[in-house]
Amino acid sequence: MNRTTGSGAVALVGAGPGDPGLITVRGAAALREAEVVVYDRLVSPELLSWAPAGAERIYVGKEPGRSAVAQEQISRILVDRALAGLRVVRLKGGDPFVFGRGGEEALACAAAGVRFEVVPGVSSAVAAPAFAGIPVTHRGVAQSFAVVTGSTAHGDEVNLGRIATATDTLVVLMAAGKLAETCRELVAAGRPAWEPAAIVQWAATPEQRSVVGTLTSLPEQARDARIGPPATLVVGEVAALARELAWISGDEHAHRSSAPGDEAPDLTVAPGPPPRHRPEAPIHPAG
Ligand code: SAH
Repeated sequence: MNRTTGSGAVALVGAGPGDPGLITVRGAAALREAEVVVYDRLVSPELLSWAPAGAERIYVGKEPGRSAVAQEQISRILVDRALAGLRVVRLKGGDPFVFGRGGEEALACAAAGVRFEVVPGVSSAVAAPAFAGIPVTHRGVAQSFAVVTGSTAHGDEVNLGRIATATDTLVVLMAAGKLAETCRELVAAGRPAWEPAAIVQWAATPEQRSVVGTLTSLPEQARDARIGPPATLVVGEVAALARELAWISGDEHAHRSSAPGDEAPDLTVAPGPPPRHRPEAPIHPAG
C-alpha cells in the first residue's frame, strides 16, 4: 500500500517496558541497523547503545518542567529523515500502538509516501501486571480485560462509567496522577468498593514497586508508598493474586497486606497451587 521513496524508511518499534530484554528480536534487529533513533522518556537507555555508534539519536520525550516536543514536529523529523534516504527507528515504550500515538506517526509516513513498518512491543498494559504477579485473565476469575488511560494529553477522556463493569479486569495506564479520582469513579460506576486493586510503578526496572489493596484503600496506600508515574493500575479479583504470585523479590510492597483498618476482601479467587519456585535472589536484574 505504501508508495516507496528511495531507501529511507521508518520502523515504529515497541521497546517494551523497563528492562531492555523485553524488546522483540525484530525490534532489536531494526535498532542495530538504524541510522537515526528517535526515542521517548520511557525507553530503556541501554537500548540506545544497541544502535550503531554513528547513528543520530534524537530525544523527543518530555523533560520535567519542559514541554514535550509537539507530535507534529516528531512526525516531521521522522518523515524528513526517511525522505533523505535514512533508516529511522522510532523507539517507543511498550507497544507503539497502545497509547503511544504510533498511529499518528504511521499516518504522517503514509501521507508523505514514506515506507514504514510497525514492530509491536510488549505493552505495559500486560507486562506491568505480570511483573507484579498479576495475570490479567485467570480461569474462573477473569475472562476479559480492558485497557484504558487515566488521563490524556488532550482531554479526550475515557468514559469510565461505560467500561467500568463491562470487563472483568480493568487496566488503567497513566494512573498515578488521578488514582483517587479513578478509584472513586469506578466504585460510583458499579465496581465493588472492596474489589482488589493494585498499582505497579516502574515495572521491570530496579525501581519497581507495587501496592495491593482494594478500590477503597489503594489511593491512600499508594500515597503512603509515594507511588508516582509511570504507574499502571489493575482492578479486579486477579489483583489479589499478587499476594501469592509476586516474584520480583525487591518489590516488597506486593507482599504487604492491605492498609490498617482495611477489611481483607472475601476473595473468591481460587489460590491454586503455590509457585513451585520462588527465588530468594532476583532472577532478573529488575530484582
Ligand atoms: N505504549 C506504552 C504506553 C504508553 S502510556 C505501552 O504499551 O506500554 C505511558 C503509561 O504506560 C504510563 O503512564 C504507565 O501507566 C504505563 N507504563 C509504561 N512503562 C511502565 C512501567 N515500566 N511500569 C508501569 N507502568 C508503565
